[in-house]
Amino acid sequence: MLELRDPPPTWEAFRHIPQIGCPRCDARHPGGPVFRIFPHHRYGCTRHGYWIGPPDINHPGPYLEIFPDIVAAQRRHLRLVHRHGWAAAYDAVLTALMICAHLWEQDPDNPYSTSVLALNQVVWNVRSFVFIPKNAERETFSASRLFAAIYPEAISIAVLIGSPAWRRLAAGDDEQLSRFTAVIGWRLGDPLYQPRGERDPIAHWIEQDCWRPPSPPPTTFAAAPGHRRPSHLDTTVTRANRERHDKAALWFSRKRRPGQAILHHRTVHPVVIREWSIQMERFDGAIWQSHAPHRFQPAAAPGRIGQA
Ligand SMILES: [Zn+2]
Repeated sequence: MLELRDPPPTWEAFRHIPQIGCPRCDARHPGGPVFRIFPHHRYGCTRHGYWIGPPDINHPGPYLEIFPDIVAAQRRHLRLVHRHGWAAAYDAVLTALMICAHLWEQDPDNPYSTSVLALNQVVWNVRSFVFIPKNAERETFSASRLFAAIYPEAISIAVLIGSPAWRRLAAGDDEQLSRFTAVIGWRLGDPLYQPRGERDPIAHWIEQDCWRPPSPPPTTFAAAPGHRRPSHLDTTVTRANRERHDKAALWFSRKRRPGQAILHHRTVHPVVIREWSIQMERFDGAIWQSHAPHRFQPAAAPGRIGQA
């Protein structure tokens, strides 16, 4: 019991709502479903190979047998936490998930997209069709499963985003920036990547975020009202959550836009709307803004970086 620990745990390092975990780990506990408060960096069980994901609708996560790269990414994620601390890792992983979700949404026919970007989309589509099969979206949809589809590539760039040395390069002069863009592009399968003036979440991060402190979690379990009531554990999925989920599942079954489903999920809110973000009236506006840079001019891309 985390909440009975003395001294109390660093609550900021944990998610603010309990969720179900790995079914094999939980099978040791008799008496119904087990709800736990996981740290922010727990996305999969490395021992049994089950996806846990961010708190969602409490569907059991899929078994990752055919995707060992997702389990390997969880190990890499743990090393990132060990190296730079939970706060840097929290911000970096959410930022990376948001970037990949934006890239998943991009139209491969857009002149700025490259065939390698489309290749990433193919990999993400394959994983998402395994986790949420076509024509079974209503029954199997969960945003958490879509996070699983992009997790390995997200962790691969989170390692850069969370590192103070790489952040300094991203915020540096043209020569330092080009070292950063070459590596992040290579990790995303786009070795010729150059920051663009529109629809480029990496360029937005370079311009607005890389030189600022990591964004913190919006709340903690200890601060959540009524968290000490045992009944709270049975109601982690509220009626409002359920309704929101059902709406998202219906929308997904019609449109199948996985990037949008991730970008609208509350897990990535803290990096879509940061403390210094320009206030937008609607959340769609905030999502749009999170991949809209100002400094990199559209006319200069692709090929060279323009300074406004
Ligand atoms: Zn397990």
